[in-house]
Amino acid sequence: MLPLSFEFYPPKTDDQRAQFDRTARRLKAFQPQFMSVTFGAGGSTLSHTPETVQRLRSDHGVTGVPHLTCVGGSREEIRSLLKLYRALGCDRIITLRGDLPSGMARTGDLRHASELVKLIRDEHGQQFHIEVAAYPETHPQAEDAHVDLRHFKAKVDAGADSAITQYFYNADAYFRFVDDARALGIAIPIVPGIMPIANFSQLRRFSEACGAEIPRWVSQRMRALGDDADGVREFASDIVAQLCRRLIDGGAPALHFYTLNLSKPTLAVLQRLD
Ligand code: FAD
Repeated sequence: MLPLSFEFYPPKTDDQRAQFDRTARRLKAFQPQFMSVTFGAGGSTLSHTPETVQRLRSDHGVTGVPHLTCVGGSREEIRSLLKLYRALGCDRIITLRGDLPSGMARTGDLRHASELVKLIRDEHGQQFHIEVAAYPETHPQAEDAHVDLRHFKAKVDAGADSAITQYFYNADAYFRFVDDARALGIAIPIVPGIMPIANFSQLRRFSEACGAEIPRWVSQRMRALGDDADGVREFASDIVAQLCRRLIDGGAPALHFYTLNLSKPTLAVLQRLD
């Protein structure tokens, strides 16, 4: 079976923790390679991310993997988190620049994810399997697609072991990105990030900010379905499952699901994939 991984954000309230536990329990049945926990750039989840990683490991018996961002943080803050993750037994880390919340001016000691990859490799050798982010539809702040690809290569040259992509709904963008990366000598696995569709208007807003394109035909069908909640769910699960099927048939090495801490949208896709 193709390796799967599931991404969560760290719950902060009792209600969120209950939802997180329910989702983790349901998705654990698919024997994921790991479940990862995002990190709020600028430190907004400083204690919640490690706590949640620990909760995955102790309460759910799954491999919990932390995300770590460098923007807004000092070298010392990053070093102490890495020390904590080693103490928790983590051997994989998702390494990112992050985006500072609007209004936060603190830039931090490291400017790009490649610098964070280098810091981890220099100070921890091969202790961590380092995952980085990749952008089949180009990072929104990049000068152009080629420059962005070279910055991706800088992360690999600094020591990244594998990559997870930003989500996308156009499989060709992923296949082309992988071909271009291979042509540039990037040999690491590039795992597609999959965003099941739970709330379409929220997804549209989010996609504008992170540079993911929602195909016009998908938006038009969603608009036509309007308030038909069952129809929307069926259609959304069908198109995401079809995307996954194409990615699997085209040689994707694994699938990483952005769960937003909800089980149903991800389960609906996985059930369609058997
Ligand atoms: P980088 O690789 O540093 O790239 C960011 C931009 O800078 C790109 O445009 C790149 O082309 C450019 N760049 C890179 N190097 C240079 C250079 N040397 N000179 C000039 N420009 C350069 N965000 C969070 O806050 N928390 C999370 O937990 C989180 N998890 C994520 C998980 C995944 C799988 C993905 C795909 C994204 C995640 N993000 C998260 C979002 C991510 O932090 C943002 O997309 C952020 O804007 C870029 O992060 P990066 O690691 O790709 O940065």
